[in-house]
Amino acid sequence: MSNRPVITVATANLHKLSELGTLFGPEWALLPAPPDTNFPPENGNSYLENALIKARAVAPHLNGWILGDDSGLEVDALGGLPGIISARFSGPEATSLENCHALLKELKGVENRSARFRSVLVLVEGGSGKLLATSEGVIEGRMTKGLLGEGGFGYDPLFIPEKYQVTFGILPASVKNAISHRARAVMDMIPKLKLLLGGVS
Ligand code: IMP
Repeated sequence: MSNRPVITVATANLHKLSELGTLFGPEWALLPAPPDTNFPPENGNSYLENALIKARAVAPHLNGWILGDDSGLEVDALGGLPGIISARFSGPEATSLENCHALLKELKGVENRSARFRSVLVLVEGGSGKLLATSEGVIEGRMTKGLLGEGGFGYDPLFIPEKYQVTFGILPASVKNAISHRARAVMDMIPKLKLLLGGVS
């Protein structure tokens, strides 16, 4: 176990860190960003730019690999919103619950409930901040008309993934971790990391 590749995760969101730790599995050592990291505003124009902003907030202070992530919920009836503003849909300091209620309000009476979660990961080099790899994952689904379930985080109680009948807020974490946007982005990233390590993908 001591030779596990170390990856520092550039997030202040403990739910995401925990999900990523589970998704990468015991072969990898995922560490949190230093607690005094000053994450600047996520003012990029894409998930990729925002993931890079996070990773490069950490990179100057550490050696090794830094993983940045950005994700969001895209609702078709709202032209893809909240998208990259998912975390602050109802204001800069909004809680998840406030964001969920704001979204439900926007969707009141709307028939088309189709939506998806998207996750983009970037791997940068500590020190230089050089971009080494990117990956992406998507899970399609539909929006509920009310909050259902208490599991997960963010918009999980509002999102029913395709092929299921209940929300991520109700489904066990093991199911979310098998099919989620973040799981798919991690599955896309791992072979790239193995190639960078010089191993077989
Ligand atoms: P960020 O990637 O930290 O900027 O935030 C993305 C936001 O999208 C989160 O605060 C959530 O509101 C939402 N989000 C991203 N992934 C998930 C998820 O797996 N479940 C529920 N909400 C999510």
